[in-house]
Amino acid sequence: MATMIIEGERTSAASGKTYEVRNPATGEVVDQVPAGGPADVDKAAQAAHKTFATWSKLPANQRREILHKAAQHMLGKVEEIATILTKEQGKTILESRLEARRFGENIAWFADLADKIHGQHVRLPDTTTYGLVVRKPIGVCGAIVPWNFPLTLAANKVAPAIAAGNTVVLKPASTTPLSTLACIEALMEGGLPEGVVNVVLGQATGEAIVEHPLIRKIALTGSTPTGKRVMAKAAEQLKKVTLELGGSDPCIVLDDADLEGAARAISVGRFFNCGQQCLSTKRLYVQEGVYDALMEKLIARASKLKPGNGLDKDTRMGPMHSETQRAEVEAQIKDAIDRGAKAIYGGGRPKGAEYEKGWFIEPTILGDIPDGARMWTEEVFGPALPVRKIKDLDEGIRLGNDTPFGLGSSIWTSNMASAYRAVQELEAGYTWVNALVIAHDELPFGGTKQSGFGKEHGVEAFLQYTEEKSVVYGGVG
Ligand code: NAD
Repeated sequence: MATMIIEGERTSAASGKTYEVRNPATGEVVDQVPAGGPADVDKAAQAAHKTFATWSKLPANQRREILHKAAQHMLGKVEEIATILTKEQGKTILESRLEARRFGENIAWFADLADKIHGQHVRLPDTTTYGLVVRKPIGVCGAIVPWNFPLTLAANKVAPAIAAGNTVVLKPASTTPLSTLACIEALMEGGLPEGVVNVVLGQATGEAIVEHPLIRKIALTGSTPTGKRVMAKAAEQLKKVTLELGGSDPCIVLDDADLEGAARAISVGRFFNCGQQCLSTKRLYVQEGVYDALMEKLIARASKLKPGNGLDKDTRMGPMHSETQRAEVEAQIKDAIDRGAKAIYGGGRPKGAEYEKGWFIEPTILGDIPDGARMWTEEVFGPALPVRKIKDLDEGIRLGNDTPFGLGSSIWTSNMASAYRAVQELEAGYTWVNALVIAHDELPFGGTKQSGFGKEHGVEAFLQYTEEKSVVYGGVG
């Protein structure tokens, strides 16, 4: 049975309650997990608070070395961790390997910043004084993570937090706790001190983290409704929040685009991780002249995405993560079809005995979807792509921005002026121009509008796990 990790101790829930984690491809039980609650969060927050006193005072170069060593050790276990991730989440083993590797690489990337970020020396009008701006870690940080990329999204929070000298109470999604535990275990085996990262499990621990007075900052990745609830709760204690929420990323393809490149990026953008991605290609707007040619290329790519158990070598798309998640996407597809949309590819469930026990769905492309359909107005969190013909860039930008979300966006064109306009006018935290929808460690990532605020990745993320303090030194002149 899995356990939580609190100050290095492997513990059950205070209540003694447990729940099952099941494999989305087979329905089999993967493990039994403690169903933690407020008492467990309290223990974890106390442990993180105690450890903060020592971890934050370590010389930053020592923190850097500890984190590098721990990350290297964890990276030696990628294969083992990837198998656990595929079993609990459903994604293909190839996707799990990439994700497990990203976890270790992210810890290493932020470790390098631990001793590189400086404060400032400031001249003051009174020359017998001078000012300093120093950066300090915040304290205990809460990290709340969803199930679609359990490891990447945990690392996005844990890595900058601990590199900057904070300690963490980490809550994975209740359906994907096991690979996260394996990563933190591996970091600790590699030398990460006890109490720096504490892992609590179970649905009820999320709210308890937001409410706990010792936890000073909350970083949440999740849906927009959850983000609103967390922000309201955190406001009661004026906690800092970083919210990485839902998205409905538009992609515009113009007549002068490299269609092969666009088709590859759209296919990866929509079908990677069985479409359960925040940054993704969720609405496709194609200029009339290349619509048919692009659809042909997308159909060719979708037809190669063989659904199956993520552990099978020839599987190219795993199942959806849960029954509810699949039901949601199926309802969105049905709504579009009922309103007159045409299935360009897929639209149903794959047939065969091997698909009966899991939450499988076909990669799906739908055209002629009228205004008001749920696929345009809501986030589609699965492998279903709504497509619409557009006359020109103006229409693409207008429709692209016609959403409450503002996470990512992309454009394919060989015209620099069109690309520049899209970059200026698309309302999103990221715009890819003729490029794969991939978040880079080096670039700050975060949404605008109802996709949230605050940044993960980049130096900006590190800075958000620090507080600036002004200091005046007198009597020096
Ligand atoms: P979710 O909002 O249901 O849950 C996310 C996490 O928050 C889970 O760990 C959950 O237990 C916890 N949680 C739920 N209610 C809470 C509360 N009241 N207080 C504290 N914690 C609470 O999201 P999900 O279904 O797990 O994930 C899918 C959503 O996440 C999608 O909307 C997707 O777009 C979004 N997402 C966003 C990004 C991004 O970076 N912007 C990345 C991945 C996923």
